[in-house]
Amino acid sequence: MPFDFSSLTARRRAAAAVSSPRELARLLACNRRDFLRNVAGLALGSALMSPSAMARAVAPRKKRKVVVITFGGGARDQETFAPEGQENIPHLMRELIPQSAFFTQVVNRGILGHYVATASLVTGVYETFNNFAAVPPEHPTVFEYFRKDLRRPSSDAWVVAPSNGFNRIGESNHPSYGGGSGATVILPKHLLTAAMSGPSSDFDHLLRDNYETPFYAPELGGHEFELQQLEMMLKLSVDDFKAHARTLSSPDELSVYIARQLMRQVAPSLLWITMHDIDIAHAGAFSLYIDGIRRTDRLCAEVWKTIQSEPEYAGNTTLFILPDFGRDSDNDSGGNGFQHHRTGDALSRTTWMMALGAGVREGVVYDRPMEPTDLVPTIGSILGFSAALSQGKPIPELL
Ligand SMILES: [Zn+2]
Repeated sequence: MPFDFSSLTARRRAAAAVSSPRELARLLACNRRDFLRNVAGLALGSALMSPSAMARAVAPRKKRKVVVITFGGGARDQETFAPEGQENIPHLMRELIPQSAFFTQVVNRGILGHYVATASLVTGVYETFNNFAAVPPEHPTVFEYFRKDLRRPSSDAWVVAPSNGFNRIGESNHPSYGGGSGATVILPKHLLTAAMSGPSSDFDHLLRDNYETPFYAPELGGHEFELQQLEMMLKLSVDDFKAHARTLSSPDELSVYIARQLMRQVAPSLLWITMHDIDIAHAGAFSLYIDGIRRTDRLCAEVWKTIQSEPEYAGNTTLFILPDFGRDSDNDSGGNGFQHHRTGDALSRTTWMMALGAGVREGVVYDRPMEPTDLVPTIGSILGFSAALSQGKPIPELL
């Protein structure tokens, strides 16, 4: 059935006239549900449906694994799920979403800065520290819960992060946790800088640390992965790493290259990949923002393919994909469209999440409101640990 564009315009106008953020979030979620039902053929789900009876089977006798991808700093629906945006996310629309449980209304009530928001996803608590400070999260991270409760070694929990400003995200300073009980953090740009051991313009396009404050250069000092470990753990020589990096067009491609190496060589049970290319939108060039969305779409599909083809992951892994938050609307008086996320309006707060793989009911869309803090307790229920201090609740549709 062809999509009715005129009704979309009418609905946008109607949405612009609504002032309640809660009502705007609901309208946005309904629009997403309809886009996905029309194109990707998803059925409308409810929490009352029994997920276990129809969920994708979990391979017996294999350890459960979870991979989380944050979708690039957030994009608007106009460039993604809406009819005019779907050409930018062909892999999500045609391959991933039909295999997923898709949640249309994930409402973020926290601070909309990338590091602090991603840290909030990682702890299940809205963290309140300064986004541009080299500090650890205050509340225990998913990695600490996982390792402490299940007595897992440090090799079982990893983060691949986009900028040096994320170097403390693997472990909190909570008094009952910390102390080396978190994830090892790989900062591919930091590794590449170390590999060059001197200035080189060959890699400038990969090394910009973030897209908002070009002069912020945090001191490293978390539990980060160092160059010497590249060969030992990832079986990757520094020369091969440099040679491959030269062929890549973006920092997220470098991150996914490292993440795949990690999956093949170390096969962690809990892996968190933070993409960030889309955030180049801050530079104000629409075409670069669109390139970032298309690349992120392709890279998400590559990670999903790796999950399905690697024997350690195939059949026992659940993949979550979600943005850290959205972007400002054109309708808000302080908004300027795709470029920033400064107003805290309903559009920049109402994100989405998809889950794929082991234990997930495929091809279903859920549009009830939920919060990004629900992710950590949900991962806890899947892997068998308690996220005791998290503010969120396990998502019943995934249990
Ligand atoms: Zn940003």
